[in-house]
Amino acid sequence: MVERMKSNFAYRKTSPIEITSADSQPVWFNNEDISDADEPLLNPLLENSFQQWASESEELTLFETGEFMLFNKAVQEIAAAGCINTNKADYNSTELEALIKDVLGSGQAGCTVIENRYITAIPIYRRKDKSVFCVFAYVTLVESQQDRPLLQACARHFRCCFYQNFELLYVKDLLLQQQRADKEADRRDELFKATKRLYNQIDVSSVLSELLSSLESFYPSSEVVLFLSQDHLNGDPRVRPLIFKNIEHDPVAKAFLNEKSVTEHDRDGTLRLAVPMTGKQAAYGVLYMTIGPGKWDESDLAAFLILADTSGFAFENAKLYEQSNLLINELRLINELTKRLNQSLKLKEIFQFATSELLTIFDADYCCILQLNKDKNEFAVVSSNFSALSSEVFSPDYGFCGMVYRTREPLIISDYWHTRVVTSKLMDNTSSRSLIAAPILVDGEVVGVILVTHKAASFFSYENYKLLQVMSTHIGLAVTNASLHAEVRRMVITDNLTGLHARHYLNEQIQRRQRKDVFGALILVDIDFFKRVNDTYGHQVGDRILIQVSEIIRSTIRQGDIAARWGGEELAVYLPGIKAEQAYRIAERIRLHVENETEPVVTVSCGVSEWTFEDEKISVESLFYRADMALYEAKNNGRNCIYIRQS
Ligand code: GH3
Ligand code: MG
Ligand code: MG
Repeated sequence: MVERMKSNFAYRKTSPIEITSADSQPVWFNNEDISDADEPLLNPLLENSFQQWASESEELTLFETGEFMLFNKAVQEIAAAGCINTNKADYNSTELEALIKDVLGSGQAGCTVIENRYITAIPIYRRKDKSVFCVFAYVTLVESQQDRPLLQACARHFRCCFYQNFELLYVKDLLLQQQRADKEADRRDELFKATKRLYNQIDVSSVLSELLSSLESFYPSSEVVLFLSQDHLNGDPRVRPLIFKNIEHDPVAKAFLNEKSVTEHDRDGTLRLAVPMTGKQAAYGVLYMTIGPGKWDESDLAAFLILADTSGFAFENAKLYEQSNLLINELRLINELTKRLNQSLKLKEIFQFATSELLTIFDADYCCILQLNKDKNEFAVVSSNFSALSSEVFSPDYGFCGMVYRTREPLIISDYWHTRVVTSKLMDNTSSRSLIAAPILVDGEVVGVILVTHKAASFFSYENYKLLQVMSTHIGLAVTNASLHAEVRRMVITDNLTGLHARHYLNEQIQRRQRKDVFGALILVDIDFFKRVNDTYGHQVGDRILIQVSEIIRSTIRQGDIAARWGGEELAVYLPGIKAEQAYRIAERIRLHVENETEPVVTVSCGVSEWTFEDEKISVESLFYRADMALYEAKNNGRNCIYIRQS
């Protein structure tokens, strides 16, 4: 009862302790007093004080001649002590009540006689405002006026006992409050430190570890589990995925969906607490704590809620930080990759560079880029760090490459050993378990496929998969660029009508070869009386003849030889590493084929020249000049023949 009263005592502000005497007795609380608010709670204190007084006064003879009683302000009898039978039934208690009320009201002591009983009632005053807070009464069958001063002394003694008890209680109450305040301050301090630590973490995993270790130190006898709605499982068994089932009866799901904490008490007193972990943008999970009976203090709840709130914000911050870091990194990588890719216009170089970059970016074990050969309808490995596969070709429906080709979508496989949707030579031969793959698209068409693998299972994240998709787009752009460039170049170096090389290309090539070869030969081919052909059959037929002669030249020469349209109906063939005599024979073959195969029949005259490293002056011009001279000779000597002009 005293306990209850203590906690209900109106809050008192503590004043500084004044030391007034040499024996260091603090007397500051002598000025403290009960208040109106305390009065309904005074009974236990009154009773205790009365008992104390009675035991301290047991020597008094008054106990043998009568009975002491104590009434509270509500005129209830709180305690009694003495010997004579004052059984209330023996006298009119209404009159006694009236006397007590009278004393309470007037503040003056009063006496009365009820049914032969002499009753004295003495008011007990508060020490500050002198209002009466209880009445000390004595009932006796023997009246004795001389007892009055003694009774007054008894009342004063009782009052002393009361205030002594009050002060004791007051000090105890203060101490308890102090202890609580200290505990709260400690907790606030710890909480502040924990909050600071949580906000100091910039990665999600550290936020989670910090939160769990803080909770462990705050609630050592509890079991804490963090259910996360997001994929951030960090291997800690206390962090689990949030799964929604049996929502009605699951406090965790309820707390998450309603964004409100849920408290449940088991029959044995175990407390289950589910608190949502929310940030500014969303709820991320639920902190779930189980605490055994008696281990929980109501004040713990506030700290728990603060921790849950703080961790929600810290988690969100860390997540945003991680995401923005990832984005910045991605942008940087894409920027660098695009820059480097665009530096090269050669497909082979692009694929090789992409392979080495992708291996580094994804920290992957293997990378393989395949290019689709439309004519042959097959995929060829154009670049890979797994040399056993280089230059291999695959059917367009084989393996993961086939899947990507068919779906035109990127792909992620977390464990090939467990989800063997297709057979893959790359995965099998490299013992890879994880894979990300993406198509290389040019104008919406799959022109190639990128495969990136790792030996460990579940190695690639969803972000990796998205990043590869973005990168494959950029590789696709580089491939488009290179293809366009190659096409433009092909157009520039090719003659439209004959399909042979253009004159400037032939010049470039001869110059190049003259720098590294030791000799070579040139054949100039001129159709005889071509003007006549044009005049007789028309220009279109003339063009056709020109194409026929070009075809004959193309099919007569070797792969490394370069045939070009020198101008008009003059054609030229450069034969690297060939001497004039050999060139003569080739020219002769051409001449014969033309004579025999053209329709309408035409003939050609050829001029042959050669250069060797021993020549004084090696140049394209002199080579042509000499071939032209030889051709001139051939024309002058009846046409349909070949002349050589040595240097
Ligand atoms: P020859 O060489 O035997 O001395 O007599 P030619 O009649 O062939 O004389 P020349 O080589 O000087 O004449 C070239 C003629 O070829 C002129 C032109 O009408 C014709 N020619 C040049 N380029 C083309 C072309 O692209 N198409 C057609 N149909 N004719 C062309
Ligand atoms: Mg000519
Ligand atoms: Mg001619």
